[in-house]
Amino acid sequence: MMELHVWGGAGEHGRSCYWIGNDHTSILLDCGVKREGCGEYPLLDPTRIARLDAVFLSHAHEDHSITIPWLYKMGYTGKVWTTSLTAMQLPGYFASWANYVSQQGGMLPYDEEDLAAIQYAYIEDEVPPLQWAALSPALQICWGRSGHMLGSIWLLIKLEGKRLFYSGDYTEESFLLGTDTPEDEIRGLAHLHGAIVDAAYSTDAEHQPEKLEQLYMAAANILSAGGQLLMPVPVSGRGQELLLLLRRRFPDTPIRVEHELIDAMELMLEHASWLRPGMDHVLADALRVSSFEIVHGDEQRAHLLEQDMAAGRAAIWFTNDGMMQSAKSQWYYEKLRAHAGSGILITGHVAKGTMAERLLALSEAQRGCRMEVVRYKIHQGKPDVRKMTQAMNSKFTLLVHAPKRDTDILLEQLESEGYRDLLSLQPGDIIHL
Ligand SMILES: [Zn+2]
Ligand SMILES: [Zn+2]
Repeated sequence: MMELHVWGGAGEHGRSCYWIGNDHTSILLDCGVKREGCGEYPLLDPTRIARLDAVFLSHAHEDHSITIPWLYKMGYTGKVWTTSLTAMQLPGYFASWANYVSQQGGMLPYDEEDLAAIQYAYIEDEVPPLQWAALSPALQICWGRSGHMLGSIWLLIKLEGKRLFYSGDYTEESFLLGTDTPEDEIRGLAHLHGAIVDAAYSTDAEHQPEKLEQLYMAAANILSAGGQLLMPVPVSGRGQELLLLLRRRFPDTPIRVEHELIDAMELMLEHASWLRPGMDHVLADALRVSSFEIVHGDEQRAHLLEQDMAAGRAAIWFTNDGMMQSAKSQWYYEKLRAHAGSGILITGHVAKGTMAERLLALSEAQRGCRMEVVRYKIHQGKPDVRKMTQAMNSKFTLLVHAPKRDTDILLEQLESEGYRDLLSLQPGDIIHL
């Protein structure tokens, strides 16, 4: 009997990890962590790890990748199937996680040698997107670009005759990244035995253009008053898109960018096959005409900000730390809080216990500057989940990547529209396939 075990990632944001298999054959989809306390890891069953036939990694983000070295410590000796771009970005995520854990006074559950033991196999070298490949007699896979970050993928899997879909983190609304929609591939199959679908934004029904209008409005409120606008973003992902979009929307406002974000933009340009058609030119132009002032160090950063503030000149600041955990973010905040009219715009997920969460909990008077949250979409909301579910014809659709309560409400709303066989589960739950 084939089963799907939720080891993490359903009914919560973080530690995505799904075991699928039976007594003879089994695979693992992702193995992430949840950024809470010293880290919450997936509910790994050590008796099943050494017997895994394959591990798949959808993308580099910590909530999908960080616990992979622990698999090797527990006796896994096989491959991690992912893209070369994901593998290339992983060392940065592992380093930042190790740093976070030590700051929290915790210990990693694995060692350097487990990290070194990871054997990556590049999925794009095995088979191009939207084509099938047999990795073993019992296991066939098909993949596509998921539009969520550079190197991110979705997977269609045939395991001992069961057909499954895993969306990974998925969006079709990226400004820069291309998405291979899985619908045509799925239509070519009889039906699916199961699907795990990114529903991170649960009942949120807005599309990217609506989000962007709100974001521009919030930015304009700060900039029109001569304020400094801080944009904390992860090093790779929405930051590069927002840089280009804000450049277009506020052509006369200086944009200062930490160099790490420009490095990631150059990496995108080097991998144009992951972009929407024509976006390589947009990126190349933005980099060539130096639309941004690139910040390389403490002295330059302090000098520029002092100049802007002294002149009462509005400017936009992009810093590579979405949840404001770094010393650099702390520095920015200390400067901004002393300057009336300045503000911080948060555009993504804020984990518990982070600096961004603590600041959001304060009143504007306590905080000393404005602060707003306007989400830039890199996941699926209600209309996207609806569309994906419709296209799938699956025996069940497991909605994941959001707190249980929010997922329950989404499920209720979709059921009232006539959708059936949707699941809202939690870590530890098991589905019989
Ligand atoms: Zn992600
Ligand atoms: Zn995720």
